[in-house]
Amino acid sequence: MTKPTTNNVGIPVASDNDSLTLGANGPILLQDHYLIEKNAHFNRERVPERVVHAKGGGAFGFLEVTEDVSQFTKAALFQPGTRTESVIRFSSVAGENGSPDTWRDPRGFAVKFYTTQGNYDLVGNNTPVFFIRDPIKFPDFIHSQKRRADNHLRDHNIQWDFWTLRPESAHQVTWLMGDRGIPSNWREMDGFGSHTYLWENAGGEKFWVKYHFKTDQGIGYLTQAEADRIAGEDADYYIRDLWTAIERGDHPSWTLYVQVMPYEEAADYRFNPFDLTKVWPHGDYPLIKVGRYVLDRNPSNYFAEIEQAAFAPTNMVPGIGPSPDKMLQGRLFAYPDAHRYRIGANFAQLPVNAPKSPVNSYSRDGAMRYQNPGDPVYAPNSFGGPHADAAYAGETVSSYGVVDEVIRSAYRLHAEDDDFGQAGTLVRKVMDDAQRERLAQNIIGHAKKGVSEPVLERVFEYWRNVDKSLGDKVAEAFGK
Ligand code: NDP
Repeated sequence: MTKPTTNNVGIPVASDNDSLTLGANGPILLQDHYLIEKNAHFNRERVPERVVHAKGGGAFGFLEVTEDVSQFTKAALFQPGTRTESVIRFSSVAGENGSPDTWRDPRGFAVKFYTTQGNYDLVGNNTPVFFIRDPIKFPDFIHSQKRRADNHLRDHNIQWDFWTLRPESAHQVTWLMGDRGIPSNWREMDGFGSHTYLWENAGGEKFWVKYHFKTDQGIGYLTQAEADRIAGEDADYYIRDLWTAIERGDHPSWTLYVQVMPYEEAADYRFNPFDLTKVWPHGDYPLIKVGRYVLDRNPSNYFAEIEQAAFAPTNMVPGIGPSPDKMLQGRLFAYPDAHRYRIGANFAQLPVNAPKSPVNSYSRDGAMRYQNPGDPVYAPNSFGGPHADAAYAGETVSSYGVVDEVIRSAYRLHAEDDDFGQAGTLVRKVMDDAQRERLAQNIIGHAKKGVSEPVLERVFEYWRNVDKSLGDKVAEAFGK
């Protein structure tokens, strides 16, 4: 027997076909509370779309630590043999919910680990670097990649205007215009924590780290022509690929590595190690294997488990802390603030966001609260309530030394810091001839869609600064 339909408080309802009316042809009655509830709730089905990373998909899985990195961190999830349940959300950045998965864009790679010490989140991307290095520019940057005020169109001219006025974008834009700017799917791309974090071991020694998830499926990419075709045929191409792979038992995996920099080396490293537009070259800091990250379960409810999944870099467990990376500092505010706005103050109580370890917090009440602590309602207290203790929290990890004046300034430059060097290395030393040719054609194709003077002249200059022959080739394509 099928179950009787009820309204939202369990009362059986008479019909899903006919509203209550005054006679067969008469007006609908306000007392049809089920009709009112059904339509009123429908009007409220959407939570606000994420301003960035709106379109995405995700899955569940686990991290298994196969190596021993305990000399670098005491965090429980990274101890040898530990297996930690996880949820991941992949996304694109600029496109709205519903936009084609295969538009050229960085991809989000946001991971939540349900550790025994609370949730640990890494809000990564499929790229190790970013367009800017100071969060004060983040809203401007995103506005330039989204829609104009007047015609509501995306506009390559304003994109290139911003990029060329902010040359620190060159490394990320080179990466974006290269093959990896359009992955073949979410399984065949790497993930990066991108920011630098602080790790602390059981003896109190500190290290700076960067995370790298290297795909075990091998890197795949789409040419611009392939991506354009797929965008027309299947806007949800990546979501479908991930879902069907997991359904058929083809569980994607990544090998997790870290780069580790001894704490003292940061001050005089040749690049500013906290600048998000730079990588740490592998030759200086080789990848150290940590374990295996596997996705083996699809969500059973997209909205509940993926749309409402709330990742935040503030979720750092004992043994892990932030660094002076200014973009990370900005995101420490922006992510939890976005969730409080988007899904409400009690977003951490939703099943996908709730930790699997105990919550003993004095936070209480607020909209939609359903697990509310009892007395005592304050700390300190004489009645056996939880008490905060630095010995558990490992607070010392965020105590990196800073003694300075309060000023507004760019980062202090390190010996080899500049805006174009690492982008040039990517073009000349990492890409082969065929990749370089595709990079040039992608740049030319993109800029030919609406970029005009005075921005265009700066585009040529920008690419000549990355690589002289690449810049000349771009200029030639415009008859310059
Ligand atoms: P390495 O030669 O040791 O490594 C090159 C890196 O570039 C590898 O991680 C490789 O990934 C990646 N790569 C290959 N093709 C592309 C592409 N088309 N777009 C983006 N990345 C690509 O070099 P270094 O560490 O000395 O760094 C040299 C340059 O490589 C950097 O300036 C940076 O642009 C780029 N890079 C560096 C990374 C780092 O963390 N050091 C990470 C990613 C890129 P894979 O092994 O998967 O092929």
